[in-house]
Formats: sequence, C-alpha cells, structure tokens
Amino acid sequence: MIVLGVDLRSSPSHPSALAVLGEASTLEALDAFSYDDELVELARTRQPALIAIGTPLTLPQGLQCLESRCQCCDAKAPRKRGREAELELARMGISCFFTSKGSIIRGLVYRGVELKKRLVKERHQVIETYPHATKVMLFGDKVPPKNSARSLAYLKERLPALVHGLEPRLATLDKNSCAALLNAYTGLLHCRELTHVLGNPLEGEVVVPRQA
Ligand SMILES: [Zn+2]
Repeated sequence: MIVLGVDLRSSPSHPSALAVLGEASTLEALDAFSYDDELVELARTRQPALIAIGTPLTLPQGLQCLESRCQCCDAKAPRKRGREAELELARMGISCFFTSKGSIIRGLVYRGVELKKRLVKERHQVIETYPHATKVMLFGDKVPPKNSARSLAYLKERLPALVHGLEPRLATLDKNSCAALLNAYTGLLHCRELTHVLGNPLEGEVVVPRQA
C-alpha cells in the first residue's frame, strides 16, 4: 500500500514535488514532475491507496470561476469570504488563503481542480490537504511562519520522526518537498482514520490530522 503526497505549483515551468510513502510511513520516493500527465501516469502504474494534494481542489459553492470580472456567482448563494473548510481553518486559528473571486493563486487552483477531476475519473481516491494545517495540528501552534527561513530547518528537524528513511535525503529537502511529505503523511493518517475532515462534501473538504 502506498500514498502519494503532492505539492502542486501553478505552472509546469516550476516542478511540482511528489512524495511516496509506504504503509509504515517509509519513504518510497521523493521526486518531482512538471506535467499533470506525468502524475496521472504514475498513479496509473502505482495505484496508490490515496493521493493527497495540498492545493485547493474545488471552487466555492456557487462559483464557476475565480475571475473578479466574471459574474458567474450564483445570486442565491450567500457571498462568503472563502470555502467553508477555509472558514473552519480560520476559526481554528490556522491562517490560510481564502479561495474567492480574484484570488492571487487562481491559476494554481484551476490546475488543482482539473487535476483532481482527471484523477477521480481514473477512480483514484483524492483528498485535499493543507501542509501548514498539518504542521500546526502535529507540532502545535509554535511552528515558524509558512515561508520564513526558520520553517525549513524546523521541518528538517521534525519530519524524520514521522517518515522512516528520510535522513539520507535531508540535505536535498526544500520547502516544496517538505510540503509534499506533509501531504503524504496526512494521507497516511487519513487511511488510519486519524484525521478531521473540514468543510462540506458538496463544496469540497480539507483533511487535517487530529491533534497529536
Ligand atoms: Zn465566472
């Protein structure tokens, strides 16, 4: 049994990071890919139990796009700041991007939405994770801010306790591969029913570890 963790980038010109974990949280591979086709092909070959992607994989209910000038917003749907799962994260004190009209990461969100559709069509189990939330839930709220210089060193200290066989790869880790590892690990916890699912199934859910 394996679980894939993906840190998706907005365009193929920046490689997306991929982590493959075995059942006992052993590192099977730490890799990168550029095109969605590559991930789809890998999933076809390896048939993972679960694919955990750390990117919004759905749009807010009632929206067909995130363009600020488009009026596709369902007039009957209440205007929300973000998706229900993101509002729940905010209530838990976990900072996150709200997926909404005009989002600066809308290119990445569109890629995530399409990738999830493709993988689900091929009958894969796909969950949305959020590596920052995983960190806070597992390590407490004293984790260094997301993109700070300290964050990478902090993760290099803590990830080897979660992922067996990571030590030889520590020097090569960057923030993207760390995020892929956190996503894969969250996927593994989800397989063991050690997670909370935030949001609602119609709009899209975000999976976070139960507090350690
Ligand atoms: Zn629209």
